[in-house]
Amino acid sequence: MIVVMKSGTPDVEISRVSEELSTWGLSPEKIVGKHKVVIGLVGETAHLNIEQIQEISPWIELVLRVEQPFKRASREFRHGDPSEVVVQTPDGPVTFGEHEPLVVVAGPCSVENEKMIVETAKRVKAAGAKFLRGGAYKPRTSPYSFQGHGESALGLLAKAREASGLGIITEVMDTADLEVVGEVADVLQVGARNMHNFSLLKKVGAQDKPVLLKRGMSATIEEWLMAAEYILAAGNQNVILCERGIRTFDRQYARNTLDLSAVPVLRRLTHLPIMIDPSHGTGRSEYVPAMAKAAIAAGTDSLMIEVHPNPGKALSDGPQSLTPEGFDRLMQELAVIGKAVERWPEPQPAAVLV
Ligand code: PEP
Ligand code: MN
Repeated sequence: MIVVMKSGTPDVEISRVSEELSTWGLSPEKIVGKHKVVIGLVGETAHLNIEQIQEISPWIELVLRVEQPFKRASREFRHGDPSEVVVQTPDGPVTFGEHEPLVVVAGPCSVENEKMIVETAKRVKAAGAKFLRGGAYKPRTSPYSFQGHGESALGLLAKAREASGLGIITEVMDTADLEVVGEVADVLQVGARNMHNFSLLKKVGAQDKPVLLKRGMSATIEEWLMAAEYILAAGNQNVILCERGIRTFDRQYARNTLDLSAVPVLRRLTHLPIMIDPSHGTGRSEYVPAMAKAAIAAGTDSLMIEVHPNPGKALSDGPQSLTPEGFDRLMQELAVIGKAVERWPEPQPAAVLV
């Protein structure tokens, strides 16, 4: 249930309404949107009488029930106001959101060694990426495949962060690693295979770093939003949703089916920012540009692209990785679509040479 306050409601009145609702045994949450303040009420609200709430204050514009099973993740919970996820990076804050320029995340599937991660970071930054991705802990189908270098790879990500100024997005697979991963990551990734790991969702929800929640490969949109709800309910409001391809009947030519319809569907259902990952979505580098362009046209807020200095030698996901040159070309192509939909970031002012 939400209580929408009229614009210009004094803060003291918002506090008074919240306090009154608390005496009813509810836990009101103040949500400050661009134009209005909304008080969110989650829990046993079925018995509440809308008219009775309305009588608390003349400053209450309306009281609405959130009909979706996902409450905090639903678009209604913020009365239609999209949320923004602001991430602090060494180069300054970067914002993910519906009214923000497109944010591009790029980098290898896994962190292999210092040279490759630092070199890739510098190359993707020069092409316009704002975040470096790279796995230290890798969820692999086979226990005999490369599992990631673990903690030592986190150290290499820290070096790449420092050398490039990019923010770091890396996966946390296990609650036991949350602290060490959180020391390096600017955004914690919960991978597709862990979307249903409720202990992990609760733990990433109870810490401060923003979370990138990938869609489970066979998860419905509702299951995905309920997974996001776990993180939001645990207290962390900074969640980005990443579509990375789902399982359908045909896996012969593409690794997954990239569900681009998720973009408008999510836009209607949730206020959370959206990311599209055409690399895992297709599994083939040659298909990545088409789907990246389509994702921008569909209205995504961000993209995740795998880039490796030598895809043929990559320890994981080489076939879907672009070379740095390929990524550079792709960014130029993406700029055309990005500008057409008015989501392309302004070029950074050139550094002043002294
Ligand atoms: C990844 O991004 O490195 C990854 C493993 O992706 P997913 O969880 O989507 O398979
Ligand atoms: Mn990968």
